[in-house]
Amino acid sequence: MSWTNYHGHCSYCDGHKEVEDYIIEAINRKMPVIGFSSHAPVPFDCFWTMPHERLSSYIKDISELKEKYNAQIRVLTSLEIDYIPNLTGPNFPFLDDVQLDYKIGSIHFVDKLKNGEPWAIDGSFDEFMVGVNQVFEGDIRRAVERFFELTREMIRTQEFEIIGHFDKIKMHNHTKPLFDESSDWYQAEIEKTLNLIADKKLIVEINTKSYDCNGLLFPGVDLFKKMLDKNISVTINSDAHYPDKLEVGYGYVAQELYNSGYRYLKELINSKWVEVAFTEKGLEW
Ligand SMILES: [Zn+2]
Ligand SMILES: [Zn+2]
Repeated sequence: MSWTNYHGHCSYCDGHKEVEDYIIEAINRKMPVIGFSSHAPVPFDCFWTMPHERLSSYIKDISELKEKYNAQIRVLTSLEIDYIPNLTGPNFPFLDDVQLDYKIGSIHFVDKLKNGEPWAIDGSFDEFMVGVNQVFEGDIRRAVERFFELTREMIRTQEFEIIGHFDKIKMHNHTKPLFDESSDWYQAEIEKTLNLIADKKLIVEINTKSYDCNGLLFPGVDLFKKMLDKNISVTINSDAHYPDKLEVGYGYVAQELYNSGYRYLKELINSKWVEVAFTEKGLEW
């Protein structure tokens, strides 16, 4: 029994250790697969994305380590790519010659602050509120609806395999309830977005990054049954920024997916995403 992780960050972006440190940790945990997905470069200053000039060494570094550890683990190359209309996205030309095993599409930026900088929605609570106030005149509902509108625009216009933390916009509700996740308007956004995900046959990751600090999952257990009813495939990803977080929350998520009726996770084998049976203890390879 073992787990995989297709979403993780290393020292090329805001991860805290070198690529090889994560590989060694994954081997120690008997993980058969580890995928790296640094934040892709963006065409403006950002402290947590990979600088554009480091992209080629990221690819080279991982491909050398793929060879080095070939007998022990499959190492995969990916990027977590932001979509910002007319600025960047999974289909943008800067990736044309970049060899990736798969792509993760994520929304972290929603429109622009007063100073012209893109508003990053996953910063601190205070930074989040600055965006809500400056970009949406304090109207949280408009901010949330815009996040999902951009998510759907990304799904419609870009090509990628995994949708990253697709309801991340709810992340500050646990600090202070900013909107009611059971409200009709919010559920309508979730419904429209999941329908499009199902149409495009994207894989939804259950992102466990916040699980051990505040119990949050993206998306949460409340959406598992709804996703299964729409035939949406899932995989479990830790979005690890430290090697010891590689499998955080996996047992809990697997149990909840199983209780909701899921029996398979999507896994990348021989360059194809296939269904692999699982229990709360791991994948049944
Ligand atoms: Zn992300
Ligand atoms: Zn990430």
